[in-house]
Amino acid sequence: MAGGPPSILDLTRDELRALVFSWQFSPVHAGRVWSYIYLAGVTRFAAMPEVPARLRARLESALALPHPAVAREAHSSDGFTRKYLLALGDGHRVETVLMRFTGRATACLSSQAGCAMGCVFCATGQLGFQRQLTAGEIVAQALHVDRVLREHGRGGPLARAESPSPHERHERLRNVVLMGMGEPLANYEAVMRAVDILRNPNGPGIGARRITLSTVGVVPGIVRLADEARPIHLAVSLHAATQAERAALVPVARRWPLDALLEACRYYVEKQQRRIFFEWALIAGRNDTPEQAHALGRLLRGLRAQVNLIPLNPTAGYDGAPTHQTAARHFQDILATHGLPSTVRQRRGLDIAAGCGQLAGGG
Ligand code: SAH
Ligand code: SF4
Repeated sequence: MAGGPPSILDLTRDELRALVFSWQFSPVHAGRVWSYIYLAGVTRFAAMPEVPARLRARLESALALPHPAVAREAHSSDGFTRKYLLALGDGHRVETVLMRFTGRATACLSSQAGCAMGCVFCATGQLGFQRQLTAGEIVAQALHVDRVLREHGRGGPLARAESPSPHERHERLRNVVLMGMGEPLANYEAVMRAVDILRNPNGPGIGARRITLSTVGVVPGIVRLADEARPIHLAVSLHAATQAERAALVPVARRWPLDALLEACRYYVEKQQRRIFFEWALIAGRNDTPEQAHALGRLLRGLRAQVNLIPLNPTAGYDGAPTHQTAARHFQDILATHGLPSTVRQRRGLDIAAGCGQLAGGG
């Protein structure tokens, strides 16, 4: 993004093979380079001894192998969450979160620096839009998290309690959520390219079903995702069950109104034969009443759906309060009467502002 040679992290494995072949080297070497980067976590072409020196020199002059510097890092007192403020080549900063509370390492990746969507309760939205991330910059965040897991290795503070398989040198990154800074469907090409690189079985090997993309409700993006063969999970940030209430929280709802959004969701479920997750930030006295729970139940009737309730996380620019646990449970009970399954997302990492909607690129 900052000029200079293109990043090798922007390339799929096939593209790298084709490039290396076009330089008159065997594509086998491209496979080795790929393994060095994605399996061994190597960050310099010079540290790839099994790659012919002439090819290394060619790579060195034609491509960059960037790895963002950690401008700041924070470890949550709950021991499950770590947040990294990563500096990109041009000085922009994005946040990446490592979460281990599901028993498996999950990376929460940013898709944009800042965000243009302006959701009132979101720190990234309060920041405004800075720029799109490239596929390589999204991939680099996952590689960073994988490196952290590698560095801590077995026996370190991030090690698993049970003994890992002998083939596993360290705990690998298993899950990815595109729920960091930015709106992934407003950066569709780069995000999907990154997803394809992360899914590559010879590389990071993160299965499509271990990747979840969360969108504010970019209707054309949902339709496009429905039409493509990329079976990742989709989460849609709903937050309100009527157009007026939603538009007050999520300004972009004026561009893609609730009925158009639901229509796109129905199309997605039908085409992909997969349910959709609907996210709902629970804001005390705002969208957590029994009436709203019933309205949500009615809105999603007949749709294969699951609701993820997220008690509001505090941000500087919004003074709403999170719904109390008891009220959240009551909300869930009402959804259940509509046959709608739901979960309340665990609140982690709040002491380091690593919770949903708290990422503002400031550390
Ligand atoms: N732009 C995408 C993904 C990033 S936000 C989207 O909006 O879906 C990830 C999730 O956190 C979204 O569901 C978002 O609505 C939610 N969120 C944002 N701010 C929040 C806050 N202060 N408290 C709880 N959830 C929040
Ligand atoms: Fe952007 Fe998502 Fe935050 Fe809305 S909630 S401002 S879409 S990052």
